[in-house]
Amino acid sequence: MNHFDVVVVGGGPAGSAAAIGCAQRGWRVALIERRAFPRFRPGESLHPGIEPLLQQLGVAERLCREDALRFDGHWVQWNGPPQFNGFGGDGNGRWRGFQIAGAQLDDALLQRAAALGVTVLQPHRAQRVLVHQRRVIGVDTDTGPLFASYVLDASGASGWLGRQLQLPVRRCSPSLLARFGYLEGCMAPYSQSPHLLADTDGWTWLAQVTQRTLHWTRLTFEAQSQAKGDHLPCALPAPLRALSSRSRPRSADVTWRISAAPAGSGYFIAGDAASQLDPASSHGVLKALMTGMQAAQAISDGLRHPALQTAAQTQYSQWLSDWFERDKAQLQRFYRLHPCPPRWLPTDE
Ligand SMILES: Cc1cc2nc3c(=O)[nH]c(=O)nc-3n(C[C@H](O)[C@H](O)[C@H](O)COP(=O)(O)OP(=O)(O)OC[C@H]3O[C@@H](n4cnc5c(N)ncnc54)[C@H](O)[C@@H]3O)c2cc1C
Repeated sequence: MNHFDVVVVGGGPAGSAAAIGCAQRGWRVALIERRAFPRFRPGESLHPGIEPLLQQLGVAERLCREDALRFDGHWVQWNGPPQFNGFGGDGNGRWRGFQIAGAQLDDALLQRAAALGVTVLQPHRAQRVLVHQRRVIGVDTDTGPLFASYVLDASGASGWLGRQLQLPVRRCSPSLLARFGYLEGCMAPYSQSPHLLADTDGWTWLAQVTQRTLHWTRLTFEAQSQAKGDHLPCALPAPLRALSSRSRPRSADVTWRISAAPAGSGYFIAGDAASQLDPASSHGVLKALMTGMQAAQAISDGLRHPALQTAAQTQYSQWLSDWFERDKAQLQRFYRLHPCPPRWLPTDE
């Protein structure tokens, strides 16, 4: 049986959230993920706004446990003395972010999707999009074709569907590579809250993600400073360089970009596959979950009321673009305050 209402490509936070959202509304869903989990991926410092989303998705109880590492905000050393940026609070107390291991988040979401009846095909790869009369009608995979009323692409920065359909992408920065890695150990002050530290070439993010693991991400603004290789960046604070690496440093393409057509006939695109800023924007996972859930709602509207399909696509695309523009403007304002702002920032905004 290879006919579904929705086929989701990618089992990261965007894909799992979309699959859960569709299954919660009663649709028949298949999700295809090319890698066996646990996969090596960053993204463990999570914004407090994620908690209601995890509740809605039915995984909060499992993930927001008493023993989870929480933090009230982060320290930023940018254009002056270090400042603490708290998340704020309300009558119920301070808002607190989470450190949730990427593998744990992936696992909880994918298991929840499977429990709701989603057919999970893993490790299997989407190879070719199937199109009939200019409408996306399914995906050819290494385990055979899957047909669906909608294909939801959540393949992350690789932007699988966009490449298949040759959709235009609007790039808003030069090519940017983030390097990241994990150190063995626990060290104050990073063990209390994450730190973002500016230097002449860019910035470094440091966060204690488990009791024994410290995560670092480093972004340099200009291509000539984007050194690759197995060595630790020299911008890491000296005491950290004494800790041993848990794995060799990796890199990820974090060029600012947005698909010019994140929804169309028979398809939606969510998460990093739809739009991406570099990790200083600080809520990639929240955005992945929200775009997955919003796309699930739009797909459901389109399936229930076929006459509203085009309106649902337009509304989703506009919502995504507005959010991207707001985040981009905020990141540009923040980078203008950097001691050595990137030369590629536009001056007229
Ligand atoms: C260095 C770095 C640090 C970060 N730190 C943070 C952080 O602290 N907090 C935060 O909120 N965000 C952070 N982010 C951003 C966050 O990791 C991403 O925004 C988020 O993971 C995007 O989720 P996604 O589901 O869209 O994509 P992904 O998590 O990339 O998932 C995409 C999935 O699709 C699968 N896939 C791709 N192609 C195919 C195919 N053809 N067939 C089948 N499956 C396929 C992939 O295997 C993958 O599992 C960071 C990003 C980087 C690069």
